[in-house]
Amino acid sequence: MLPSDPLSRHFRIDIAHQKALKRLHVETVGELLYHLPVRYEDVSDIQSVQGLAVGGEAVVYGQLGGLKARKAWKSRRPIAEGYLEDGTARIKLMWFNQPYIAKMYRDGQYVKAVGKVTGTPGKEYIANPELEPLDHLPIDRHDSIFKTSNSEDTIYPVYRESQGVTSRWFYHTAIKCFESGVLQSLKDPIPEEIRKRYKLYPLDTALRYIHSPKKLEHAEGARKRFAFEEVFHIQVEMARRRAAISAATTYEINSGEDHVREFVERFPFKLTTAQSKAIKEVLQDFKRPHAMSRLLEGDVGSGKTAVAATTAYAVAVSRPPEGKSAGERGGLEYGNLQVAYMAPTEILAKQHFESFIQYFSHLPVQIGLITGSGCYKFPSKSDPRKPTKISRTQLLKWVKNGEIPILIGTHALIYKSVEFKHLAYVIIDEQHRFGTNQRKALTKKGAPLPHLLSMTATPIPRTLSLTIYGDLDITLLDQMPAGRKAVITKIIGPQQQAPMYEHVKTELKSGRQAYVICPRINEPDPEKENALNLKSVVAEAERLQRDIFPNTRIDVLHGKMTPTEKDKVMARFLAHESDILVATSVVEVGVNVPNATNIIIEGAERFGLSQLHQLRGRVIRGTYQPYCFAVTESKSEKTRDRLKALITAKNGFELSEYDLQFRGAGELYGGKQSGLSDLGMEAIKNLKLVEAARNEARNLVEKNPDLSNHPQIKDRLAKIDQSLHME
Ligand code: ADP
Ligand code: MG
Repeated sequence: MLPSDPLSRHFRIDIAHQKALKRLHVETVGELLYHLPVRYEDVSDIQSVQGLAVGGEAVVYGQLGGLKARKAWKSRRPIAEGYLEDGTARIKLMWFNQPYIAKMYRDGQYVKAVGKVTGTPGKEYIANPELEPLDHLPIDRHDSIFKTSNSEDTIYPVYRESQGVTSRWFYHTAIKCFESGVLQSLKDPIPEEIRKRYKLYPLDTALRYIHSPKKLEHAEGARKRFAFEEVFHIQVEMARRRAAISAATTYEINSGEDHVREFVERFPFKLTTAQSKAIKEVLQDFKRPHAMSRLLEGDVGSGKTAVAATTAYAVAVSRPPEGKSAGERGGLEYGNLQVAYMAPTEILAKQHFESFIQYFSHLPVQIGLITGSGCYKFPSKSDPRKPTKISRTQLLKWVKNGEIPILIGTHALIYKSVEFKHLAYVIIDEQHRFGTNQRKALTKKGAPLPHLLSMTATPIPRTLSLTIYGDLDITLLDQMPAGRKAVITKIIGPQQQAPMYEHVKTELKSGRQAYVICPRINEPDPEKENALNLKSVVAEAERLQRDIFPNTRIDVLHGKMTPTEKDKVMARFLAHESDILVATSVVEVGVNVPNATNIIIEGAERFGLSQLHQLRGRVIRGTYQPYCFAVTESKSEKTRDRLKALITAKNGFELSEYDLQFRGAGELYGGKQSGLSDLGMEAIKNLKLVEAARNEARNLVEKNPDLSNHPQIKDRLAKIDQSLHME
C-alpha cells in the first residue's frame, strides 16, 4: 500500500461512498491519513436522555421526531417543537420565537442537541437547544466498537462526516492502513531539527496518535504537530512569495514631503494619528528598492480612502525613472507614474471617483473611471470642476500613453485591453484575499512590479493575519475620526423587544430609517440555505408589517435577487422611499445610507462578534445618534456575556480576538474562506506556535529558496497555492 494509492484499490467502496469521500477530498490513502479527527469524545461522558434532570445542561445524541411549528397558547409566541429519542428515552425540544427551526430539520434526522433541561419533573424539555446534524450517531451506546479490554480507553475520534461515510469508517480504515505498513513509506515534511526544537512527534507516531489515541495527551500532542505542520507550510509559501517580490524590480517613488503635506492640509478634516502613520509607512515603502505589499485594515468609516488618495497623489506626481514626464501643466511638473484603484462594486468605484475629484479638484491631475456601464474622466474640458463621460476607447488610449495617472474602476480594470504606461501603484479595496493576484493581473510582462495597497474593513485576529497574509506587511487603522457618534448598542433578550420597537417607531417618526437583519441559517446544502434565508427575510418583513409597523414602507433584500433588483431596492432606501430594509446578513448592505441610524440584528448569537460589528458599522456614518439592537432568544449567560463584548470592546480587532478565543476559530468571519483547515484555525489561537512556524519557515526559505532539499514541502505547497488567496 502506498500513500498515493486510490482507496478503492484496497477497500470496498460503493458509488455513494465514493461520492461522499470525494466531497471530503479523501480519495487516496494519504488523504485518508490526513483526514484528521475534528475532536474526541469520551464514551463515559455521554449522557442518556433517561438520565437528564431539570436544571442541568444536556448534551445528548439521538433521532429527531414530531417536529412542528405552532403558536403559544397565551402569548401567541411562535414556537417550534419536537422531541429527541436516544434509545433510552425521549425528551421534548422547544424553540421560542424561532418557528423556522421546525423546517430546518426533518423527523428521523440524527443530531447532537445541547441545551438546558427546563420544565418540571415528568414534563421536562430542552429549551432552545442548539442542534448539530449528524449523518450517523457517533457511537451507539450499546456498541463496543470503540471500547477495548482496557476500561480506561474510552476516548474515540470523531471525524468530519458526509452523507454516506461515517466516523467509524474513517477510524477503522485508518487502523487498517496502519496495519498494512504504509506509515513506513511516508516521509516527514517537517525537518528533523525543527521537530526536535519544538518537541513535535514524527509523522508516523503522530498519525497513530491522532487516529487512535490511548490517552488524550497523545491526541493533543499529535494535533499540535499537525497544527504546526499546516501553519508552517503556509508560512513557507508566504516566505517564498515575499522573496519573489523582493527580487522583482519596482518604481522608486520619492515624492517631496512638502507636496504631500500641502495635499493633506486641504482635506476638510484633520487626519487621525492612525491615518498619518499609515501614510508615512506607505511613503517609506515607496522609497525602498522592492515593491510594497501592504494590507491596510481599518473599521468601516476609519478613513481608508484618504490614505489611498494621499499615497496615490504621491505616485501621480512622481516621474518614471527615465525622467520623462507627461508634460508641464500649469507651472507644475507632473510625472506620469500611474495608479490603479480597484473597488468591488460599481457603486463603490463611483463613490471613490467622486471622493478623488474632491481631493484633486485643485490640481491638474486627470482621473479616469472605468466600469462595466461606462467611462468618465475628470476634469472635463468644458467645465474643469466636473467629470465628463468619454468613450472606453478614448480612456484606454489616454491610460496607455500615460496621460491619465489615476484610474479608478471595478473588475473592468483588469481586462486585458487596459494597458498602462507606467503602472507604479495598485490599490485594492475590500478584496484583500485577491490583492496579490490582481496586482499580478495588472502587471505587464517585463514591466516593474507595482506597489500594492490592499484595504479591508474585515477585522481579523493578529495570528490569522500573520498567517494568511504572511506575504503582506500590515498597517492597522485602529482609530476613528474624532466627533463620530459611537453606536449605542443594546443586547435584547427574550421578551424585551417591545421597548426596542417603540424606540425604532419614534426614530422613524422623526424621519430616520432602519435596517433589520435576519438570522443567518447555516445549512450544509447552500441551495437550501439560500431558500431558508430568503424565507426568514420575507416572513420577518410580513410579520413586522402586520404586527409592529403597520403604516411603514418595508422593503426586502436577499441573496436570491438579481444585482439589478438589489440596486433598485438600495436606491429606494437611499432615496428614503422605504423606511425599513429587511435583509439577510449574506447580502452585503453595501451602500452608505446616512439617514439609516438603527439596526436590529435578529438571532445575534448566530453571528461572530466581528461580523456583528461590521453590520453595525452600517449605521455609523450619519450625523444622527446611531443605535444597534442585538436580539437574542438565548438565555445562556455565556451567550449574553459574549454579546456584551460588543458594548465594551474598543474596535473590531478586539472583537475578532474575542471571536477567536470564545467562539472557536472555525467560526471566525472569513476564517472558513481562508483556506485553513479546522485544525489550522485552531492553531491560530496560539501566537507562539504561529510565530515559531513563521520564523522557521523564513529561515528555511532563506537557506534554500527553491526548496530543492525539501521535496515534501514543495509537493504540499503546490496544493496550498491553489487554496490560499485564490478563488
Ligand atoms: P472607510 O475606511 O470605511 O473606507 P472612508 O474613507 O469612506 O472610510 O471615510 C468615511 C468618511 O469619513 C468619509 O466621509 C471621509 O470624508 C471621512 N473622514 C475620513 N478621515 C477623516 C478624518 N480624519 N476626520 C474626519 N472625517 C474623516
Ligand atoms: Mg472604503
